Order: sequence, then C-alpha cells, then structure tokens
Amino acid sequence: MTGLYIHIPFCVKKCKYCDFTSFSGMEDNFDKYLGALSEEMKQYKGIDVDTVFVGGGTPTVLNQKQLNRLIGDIKNNFELSEICEFTFEVNPGTLNSDKIKALKDGGVNRVSVGVQSFVDTELLALGRIHNSREAFNTVSMIHDMGITNINIDLMTSIPYQTRESLIKSLNMAFKLPITHISAYSLILEEGTPLFNEYENGVFSLPDDDTDREMFDTLKSKMKEHGFLRYEISNFSKPGYESRHNLKYWNCDEYIGIGLSAHSYLDGRRFSNTDNLGKYLNLEFRNGDTKTLTYDDMVSEFMMLGFRKTKGISEAEFKKRFGKDINDIYGRELQKFMDISLIEYDRGYYRLTDRGLDISNSVICEFMR
Ligand code: SF4
Repeated sequence: MTGLYIHIPFCVKKCKYCDFTSFSGMEDNFDKYLGALSEEMKQYKGIDVDTVFVGGGTPTVLNQKQLNRLIGDIKNNFELSEICEFTFEVNPGTLNSDKIKALKDGGVNRVSVGVQSFVDTELLALGRIHNSREAFNTVSMIHDMGITNINIDLMTSIPYQTRESLIKSLNMAFKLPITHISAYSLILEEGTPLFNEYENGVFSLPDDDTDREMFDTLKSKMKEHGFLRYEISNFSKPGYESRHNLKYWNCDEYIGIGLSAHSYLDGRRFSNTDNLGKYLNLEFRNGDTKTLTYDDMVSEFMMLGFRKTKGISEAEFKKRFGKDINDIYGRELQKFMDISLIEYDRGYYRLTDRGLDISNSVICEFMR
C-alpha cells in the first residue's frame, strides 16, 4: 500500500536554523490552505494507504476545528487501512488538551514531537518557541491522553552543546514514555540567522572529534535504554520503527500533498510548487517529473537501503530488479567487505558500525 504525506507549512515563529518550507504569521491563510489541500487530495480519491504522516512546519498551529477538518478530509479522500500508522508532527508550545483530543478522536496513533534539546540555553540558541519544561510536559500530556506511540526529535552539534549537556538531554528523554528517538545533527544552512551568527563568530561549533565523541555517547546511551538503531539517525524500542519513514528507505510508493511535497508513484518522482500563492490558487505541481530508469531505481534502492542498519535484502533485490545483487554490485560489495565497511549476514548486506560512520562515502560508490 501507499504512504501519504501531508505538508502544513506554517509555524508560530521561524526557528533560527530553519530552511524548510514554512512561514510564520500566516494565520489568515490557514482555512484557504486547508481548502487547497482538500482539492489536491481529491485527485487521489479512493487510494488505499497504510501510513499517514502530517508534517511541517507545525501542523498543530491549526486550531481544533481546523485539525478536525484536515483529518476529515484525509479520511474522506483516502481508504485508510485498519492498521494504518497515522502520525502527526507537533511542536511544544502549540498543543493543548483540546487539540490532542481532536488528534486522538480522529485516529492519530503516533505523534512526533520536535523537542531538539532539554537544555534551555540550547533551545534559545536555536530560536525554538518552547523551553525544556514545556517540551517535557507536552510529551507527558500526549501520553496521558492516550497516544502512546511517541517519537521525539533530538539534535546534536547545537551551539554551546557539550557532551555533558547532551547526556542531560538524553537522560530527560529516557524519563519520558516514548518509543522512538530521531537524532539529527544540526546543519547550518546558508542564509539562516544561525548561519549568519556563526559566520560573525557569535558561537563556535564542536570540532569533528568532539562531534564524533558526542554521537558515540548518544549511540551507547540509546542502547543502554533499549532504543535500537534501525536507521542512520533513528532509534526505536523493538517494534516501534516508523513504518512511514521506512517506506522512503525501502523505495516504496508515497503520495505527497501540500506545498513543496514530493511524491513517488508508478515509477515517477514529482513534486509540488513551493510558491504559497500558486498553491492557494490550486496550481499544485511545479512541473518537475522524473521517470526513473532501471539504473536510477537500482541506485536509489542501494542508497536508501544502506541507511537501514538491517541493510539490503539480497532476495528483495532480485525480486525487484530480476538480477542477483552480485551481478551488478559484486565488485563494490567485495571491496567494502574486504575493509570491513560492509558485512553480509543471512541474506542482507549492511554497513558495519564503521561503515555507518562514513556512510556517504561508501554509498556514493553504488550510484549508477
Ligand atoms: S518548527 Fe520546524 S519547520 Fe517550524 S520553523 Fe522551527 S524548524 Fe522550521
């Protein structure tokens, strides 16, 4: 079945590091945007989906009535399977019990909370709208109201972050009733206020060795607390891997609805406009469509598959591409196995721990 992604490009305030398609101060456009989403959804009416991910931006900037409308439109246009994983991205500082109830009553069964850090100076440096206590209370409230499959996003390489402050954030996270942690390294994107601060010497970032040491600490703490690394940046309790995100890494199909959303359907990748005015006027597509060649599909399967710690299934490769993986990649696989960056185990080729540390340089050799 297909995955469904819906993009809500609105936030209360722009974080200092953010270069995503999101806008603040646009409350007057929320209803019109929901109307446009509804129109776009109609183009796919009746398609079966087994994962839904409403992300942003901050979907929970919408009020309770708007959340009900959005969830109603999703259900009216798509056939949600009985075991559908239905995730909503939320940010502390935008949720109250009425909104959580709207999500729960609407069938949302997984929530992803943008925490980033439990250290207030770090949150301030990032320009987040919440402090650590609000983040902690938000997660507790979601769980107490009955949505128990909860991810939190944490960041590394934040300005002023130290190994000790990272451990503090992790220890706070482990006190919470969560099932999943996404841990990403901050990327300073040119043009963002944080990038400019860095250029002007307002703060310095940890060097590569400290960065690596912090990520090693993070990995060992995750393991200690029962969070298994199943993708380069994602850790979960057993059985709580994100089924929606696995669709991306497995090269399965998904439909993206909303501003700048991407889709992969019938062997084609296409995307929507990132111009809000055009989207509100129901001009959804940006015209970029790529029909994947056999080589494109094989390359993507390798590139995304190696992100998973389980690795790439030999049998699945043969099923999809009609050839043995060694017929295409025998030389590369052997080369990296010889230097212990890739290992083979019961039908799967995967990156070793050291391979995962330098995944980009290994993966690029599998591009066709
Ligand atoms: S909440 Fe997320 S999308 Fe919104 S401004 Fe911050 S980083 Fe960007």
